[in-house]
Amino acid sequence: MKYAFLSDIHSNLAALNEVVKDMKGKAEKIVVLGDIVGYGPKPSEVLEWVRSNADAVVQGNHDYSVGTGDTSWLNASAAFAAQWTRKVLSYEQLSYLASLPQKSLLNIEGKKMLIVHGSPDDPLHEYVFPQTHDTLFEHYLKKEKVTILAMGHTHYPFTKDTPSGTVFNPGSVGQPRDGDPRASYAIAEITHDYVRVENRRVDYNIKETADLIYDAGLPRKFGERLFQGV
Ligand code: ZN
Repeated sequence: MKYAFLSDIHSNLAALNEVVKDMKGKAEKIVVLGDIVGYGPKPSEVLEWVRSNADAVVQGNHDYSVGTGDTSWLNASAAFAAQWTRKVLSYEQLSYLASLPQKSLLNIEGKKMLIVHGSPDDPLHEYVFPQTHDTLFEHYLKKEKVTILAMGHTHYPFTKDTPSGTVFNPGSVGQPRDGDPRASYAIAEITHDYVRVENRRVDYNIKETADLIYDAGLPRKFGERLFQGV
């Protein structure tokens, strides 16, 4: 079975559209690891795409803040974007974001997989970077009794195969931070015998999203950083 994993789309519709084109014919199911909204200019369109197309979704910290109005965990400009997003979305869309699960357990080809935005211990806020020591990955896989763990939040793609299983992050569709401005996502092939994760990078019209950010009166840095992929 082939799965597409998308995370941290962050209301970037131009990036999402190119990823959707790229993954055509490559995946049977779609999983979204949170942060559907926040930072970007097209929250409603991105939210509706996720709602209609994703087979599994977990809540990110921005989804939580936008859905609930509790922006206490965000910095000032991210909180400003969250409040802007709340004004653009309907009450019903806000309820959707607020009610997303923070962890979800999937059963794929006899393998157990945990999906979460941040980390198993702190689903909304912990950052698990690629350089994290393997012992933490082992700890999470054993503690959660799974052989696959998929996380988002850092906007850094990686895949780690450990003795206990596979841990990966597909990177960010809408705001990559690893120095490569192309949209990032992953195709995971999961069979009874193996797990293979392929990170894919896709060009999109960055200027289109940046201009919409400037036009909306969102903090300019959320547009400017997209060109650098930081
Ligand atoms: Zn994010």
